[in-house]
Amino acid sequence: MSVLTPEFIYFDLDDTLLNHKKAEQNGLADVHDHFEEFSDISLKTLVDTYHHINKGLWEEYGRGEIDRHILHRRRFEETFRELGIRTELYEEAGKVYMQYYRNHWEWIDGAEEAYQSIAQKYEVGIITNGFAETQWMKIDQFGFRETARHIVISEEVGVMKPQPKIFDHSTELAGVDRDKILYVGDSPTSDVKGGLNAGWMVAWYKSNPTELEATLPDLVFDDFSVLMKELGI
Ligand SMILES: [Mg+2]
Repeated sequence: MSVLTPEFIYFDLDDTLLNHKKAEQNGLADVHDHFEEFSDISLKTLVDTYHHINKGLWEEYGRGEIDRHILHRRRFEETFRELGIRTELYEEAGKVYMQYYRNHWEWIDGAEEAYQSIAQKYEVGIITNGFAETQWMKIDQFGFRETARHIVISEEVGVMKPQPKIFDHSTELAGVDRDKILYVGDSPTSDVKGGLNAGWMVAWYKSNPTELEATLPDLVFDDFSVLMKELGI
């Protein structure tokens, strides 16, 4: 007996269906190997510095204070400056990082089988906070154009999750009542908060939730077979 009975299911892309964190980590490891300037700097130091700077820049981007070109430039420029490396190299670093990052894209464990099975039984779509150029490359590479009825990218809508506008837009596209839409995502703010505020059902891809976290969405799962079972597959 399935517990969730949605009429439309949206999925988040990064770190829900595709393993962005691992691709980012591997891409940064390749950047670390690429520049001899890093020989005295550990990979961990590079990763920690990059994450700290990138997170701040994404917050600025989310508030509309900077555009993506500035974000792309500053994330390596400021990382290199912080690590005492010639900042003239930042442009090359940004380019090689994107090439390396793309080489490491892969599905989250169990997500491919679950997504494909769910897409056969339900109408599905994708909502992603990301840059259109990069996200469309992922969408093509993994065949989402063939299976997803609607693909919503924050850069094209003009706002990021969890802002209501992107959920309202997606609700309209789905063409069903809000409470018949299920959102599957990993982020407590972008996905869980955004989806619940929109009046959607939410399935949170999350390991070891606290007692409070477990009560927030309609489902918390860390194994895609659990999601399939709840959907009667
Ligand atoms: Mg995500």
